[in-house]
Parts: sequence; C-alpha cells; structure tokens
Amino acid sequence: MRTLNSGSRTPKSGAGQSANSTRITMSETLKPETRAFDTEVHQLLKLMINALYSNREIFLRELISNASDASDKLRFEALTNEALKGLDQDLQIEVVIDADNGEIRVSDRGIGMNRDEVIENLGTIARSGTRKFLESLSGDRKKDARLIGQFGVGFYSSFIVASEVTVETRRADEPAGQGVRWHSEGSGEYNIETIEREAQGTTIRLVLRDEHKDLLNRFQIERIIRHYSNHIAFPIRLVELGEKDDKDDKDDKDDTDQVINDTQALWTRPKSELSEDDYKSFYTGLTGDPEAPVSWAHHHVEGSQSYSLLLYLPGQAPFDLLINRDEREGMKLYIQRVFIMDAAEQLVPRYLRFMRGVVDSADLPLNISREMLQDSPLLKKIRATVVKRSLDLIEKLAKEGGEAWEKFWTSFGTILKEGVIEDFEQRERIASLLRFASTESGQQASTGLDDYTERMKEDQDTIWYLTADSLKVARSSPHLEAFRKRGIEVLLLTDRIDEWLVSHLNQYKDKELKSVARGKLDLDEDKHEPDEQAKALAGRIKKVLGERVGNVVPGHRLTESPGCVVADEHGMTLQMQKLLRQAGQEVPETKPDLEINSDHELLKAMREESDEARFTDLAHLLLDQALLAEGGELADPAAYVRRVNQLLVAALSGERDSEKASDTEDSNAASA
Ligand code: ADP
Repeated sequence: MRTLNSGSRTPKSGAGQSANSTRITMSETLKPETRAFDTEVHQLLKLMINALYSNREIFLRELISNASDASDKLRFEALTNEALKGLDQDLQIEVVIDADNGEIRVSDRGIGMNRDEVIENLGTIARSGTRKFLESLSGDRKKDARLIGQFGVGFYSSFIVASEVTVETRRADEPAGQGVRWHSEGSGEYNIETIEREAQGTTIRLVLRDEHKDLLNRFQIERIIRHYSNHIAFPIRLVELGEKDDKDDKDDKDDTDQVINDTQALWTRPKSELSEDDYKSFYTGLTGDPEAPVSWAHHHVEGSQSYSLLLYLPGQAPFDLLINRDEREGMKLYIQRVFIMDAAEQLVPRYLRFMRGVVDSADLPLNISREMLQDSPLLKKIRATVVKRSLDLIEKLAKEGGEAWEKFWTSFGTILKEGVIEDFEQRERIASLLRFASTESGQQASTGLDDYTERMKEDQDTIWYLTADSLKVARSSPHLEAFRKRGIEVLLLTDRIDEWLVSHLNQYKDKELKSVARGKLDLDEDKHEPDEQAKALAGRIKKVLGERVGNVVPGHRLTESPGCVVADEHGMTLQMQKLLRQAGQEVPETKPDLEINSDHELLKAMREESDEARFTDLAHLLLDQALLAEGGELADPAAYVRRVNQLLVAALSGERDSEKASDTEDSNAASA
C-alpha cells in the first residue's frame, strides 16, 4: 500500500513521522526553537478545548478543508510557476487511523508551507476576521461552532480532540528534503524545527486525548467525512492501519484503504442526477453553515460563453454580514474546474452579499488576475445572471411567504434594501420585495409596496410613509393624525437605511412615494383656507420663535396634537439630518416649519394670552414638544425644562390660590 507519507510504517511513529526518517540538516540558525503563541491564539486554544467540546467533529472538516485549500493553491500556482509544473498531478488527501498509536493523521500533497509561513499561519492570528471572531464568541456552543466554520480558525480546532499536534510540511517549491516540523501540546507555546521531508505538502498528526479515542474507528471517521466533506474536489482516502502484526509483510492485508468522497464537482453534473441531499451537503461543505440552505438554483449556461452556476440562498445570516460590507466571501470562482479565487466582489453586488455559491467558467483564461477579473466583460455578464437568478430565488420565497420568508426578511432585509440605492436597473424589482411595518398591519415589516397599493383608497395616488427611530415613536407621531382620521394607510420606516432608501425611491410603479412629514399635505378634503385668526396666531408665534423655525403655518395634519414639525418639500427630514450627523457628516442647519393645530385647546388659550412673556414660553414649548414627539433632540434642553417647571409652578400655585380662595369662602359661609 502506498500512503502519502509512504514507507514509514514504524508503529511507534506512524506514517511519515518516523524519528529515523527526520534529521535536522539546517544550519545553527534553524535549530529547534520554542516559541510562544500570540496571546490571541492562546486565548483561542483555551476556548476551543472548553467551549467546543461537544462539536468535536468539526476538527476533521477543518483539517480536510485546509488540505483541500492547499491542493487548490498548488494547482493554481502551478499554472504560472514553472517550478511547480507537474506537481499538481495526483493530488489527494489521506486520512489515516492509527489505533495502535492513538493517532489520526491528515495528509495532503498540496502547496505546503515554509518555515516563515508555518510561524505566520500556525502561531499567530493574522487575519482581522479572527479577532472579530474571538470578540463575538457567545458562550453558546452551537452558535460558536458555526462561527468556527465561517471564520476558518480551523486548524486550532485540532486541540479539541488532541493532546498533541504535530505538523510536518514542505512547500512544494522548496528543495526536496527541506521541511519543517511544528509541534505543540496546546498550551502557551510550540516548537519548530527543520526536518528532512521528501513529500510535498503537509501531514497533521493528532495524538488523541483518552476521552476521544473512540474516534479511532473507521465507521466514525467515515461518517464524519461523508457528512462534512463529501464534496471536496480531491479524493479523500481513508486508511485504517491494521492491528499490529509481527509479520510485517502481512500488514497491508489488514489495512483498509478506500476513497470515500464524491470528487466529481457537483456543479458540473446534470441537475437530473442530483438529489436534494446532494445540494444540501454540498452547501454544508461550501459554507460551513450547519443550517440547511433555504433554496438554490443550478444552471448550465451554453452559448457565446459557457459556465455553470450554483447559487444558494442561506437560511441564516453569517453574523458578520453587516460589518463586512467590503471584505466579502462566499462566491467561489472556478475556471474549468480549477479553483481560482473567492470572487464575491466580482460576482455579486453588495446588496446580495448573503448569497453563496460557485461559478465555473469554461471561457475565462486560467491565468486571470483579480485586476483582470474586475474589467472582464465575460464576468460582467455572469454577474448579471447571478443577480437575476438571485432575485428569482428571493421572489419565489416571497411568493411562498410564511416562516421561511419572514426569516429571510429578518436576516437579510436591510441588506437587500441597499439594492434600491445601488442598482438602478433592478430598482423596481428589488422594491417589490421590500417589506415595511404599516399603520394597517400589526406585525412588524410585513407590508410590501404591492400590498399597500392594492389597499389604497380609490382616489389616492400617493404611497405615504413616515420615517422614525423606532416603531414606537412612529406609531405615536402627530403626523399620523390626519391620516388616521381619513383612514389612509402609512408605511412606518424605522431602519437606519430607510431614509436613504426613500431618497432613491420617489416612485413605485406609477405611484409617488411621499413622506407624511414633508411639505404640504394635499389630502383632498379639508382644503379650506385657514381663517384670519389662525393666520394671525401663526404670525405671532413665528415672531417669537424667530430663527428657530422656517415658517409657522396653520394646517390640517393634526387632530389631537397642538403642533408638529414639517420638513420642506425638498428638504431633509429631521430623521435624515440626525442620521447624517451620527455618521459624522456636516449637515447644514435647516429650519423645519412648525404646523399648528388652531383648534387645539392650547392654541385657543394662546390666542387669548395677553402676557407676552408667557406667550413666548408657550410658543417655545409648542415647538420643543413637536420636536420631541418625533424623537428629535432639543438644542437647549435646559431652557425647555426651565419653561416646563415655570408653568408647573404657576399652575400649582394657581390651584393653591383658588383652593385658598374657596377655603375662605367656606369659612366665611360657616361663620355667617
Ligand atoms: P484558514 O484555513 O481559515 O486560513 P486555519 O487556522 O485553518 O485557517 O489555517 C491557517 C493557515 O495555515 C491557512 O490559511 C493556511 O495558510 C495554513 N495551512 C493550514 N493547513 C494547511 C495545509 N494543510 N497546507 C498548507 N497550508 C496550511
């Protein structure tokens, strides 16, 4: 039997690990060395061992996935690097169960690592994503295990099951023989030394902890590989070394050796051959997401250019989705079945960054670079198809509705909204998928623009919305009063992105979208001109408020509240101004109008108020309250508090005075 680390069957040291076969041949500077792990690695290791105990099986998935990546890399580098030509033949991954030595070994013939790379990759956590990973561990084992898959802090997961891990590796373009050994017991440090290693690629040797020795079992390991790694594109051979036998020549007969995965690239196969389970398990291998995908689309495109496309709509959001707008992963580009790179940025627009999948082109040149990809017209066409197919999947889900759609919307809705802003061509299609809360729906975010237009009143030609910080603020906004009175539905937009969204979506189909908080409301009825008294009161208030407001106008928005602030027809709403300021942008001071409800008791009282000082206080309070009701901020909250207090004191002492007066009246009556 030939194993990847052939010729080393010495029982004590196992395949390829023989102490006899490794000699330190390098100069003094490359002497064995003990190094400390980065603090973060140390932290990670501790977490691994404790928190992920119950998810121990992922270690094998991670090691096989690393082996597969290393083989992909070799194949890719061999396209351009003469020194590697021919070394990319016969790539395979081998998993050896060595029960005698209590070990599992995973070997590949991939690119391997030189000494610097070993130190860089297996001693530090270089990638920023890993830091985020550490910060986001929740203590919930299931969730954390999922993160491991997504982040690929994979190698260290070996320590979940192993008390000792040894890595022996030789970079394929280093001179034959010059390898590196890395060894650690998972505490604070590791050893590194130079060794002689013939085989290119890497062998990871795990000495299992006693409590995990049950893994030294063909059925267990085979099941784990089939479950997590069935669609790895390289053959995975599982070798179970036979019981130690005195007669060496008999050994091979006791060993079993078998390729156990399905290496034919799934996306190249005709759809008719593939089952639901095939697609699902491929997804698991592709994404590390333990939850099944919601749906998928598989296409073989022939014609002026040929490619295969396999797209998945995931069931749940990877937790870093919203953070990592720019460093995206999840769409793999293959060219003639050679893995080229993760090309999410080139293949899907940002607003579809939750999509996962594979594109395999028959026409792109194999030696394509990231820069060339950026400008490739072929790739642009593929990208357009990816967009269309993704929207098809989402539309289908929306049509089916139900829990799956709700879950999708909760996970990815805010991201999809970016599409309205970014993708002019697909704007209407994306808009039709959006869901919002509304004054007519109890549930959050369940009303689509089509639902809204279907429910519109006969003479209504505008889609009305209100933006606010939260549903609570929205629902109690004074701006809704006029609409409530007339039974007109209003969409309640409370996502941060919604202000931007509506600034790009003035129209849906033939209906205009308008904010209830902006400009003049032309709600047909009630168009009577305000009377002179109301106009005079408005003028008096404006005089007092001066530069604090644009205009003060008597209007018909309000039925219950005394006043509300209204943005200029083309101006920015208060909500937008607030968001921009929060985003650190300079926003020119714009003055909203104050609309007053002249039928309200407060305004009636103000009309009668002859004390100018008191009138001034009331006018400011009217504006401050209107701002507060919208979740706005007051420029001078202290002044507001002072005014409210003054009024309270006046009201209370007025009450006391009148109580006193009635007391005297009572006593007068009694003495009479
Ligand atoms: P990830 O695979 O997500 O990068 P890992 O911790 O699993 O994270 O591995 C860290 C790095 O170590 C890899 O990016 C790769 O460069 C290197 N590495 C791990 N396993 C192998 C291997 N079998 N062959 C070559 N390089 C490897």
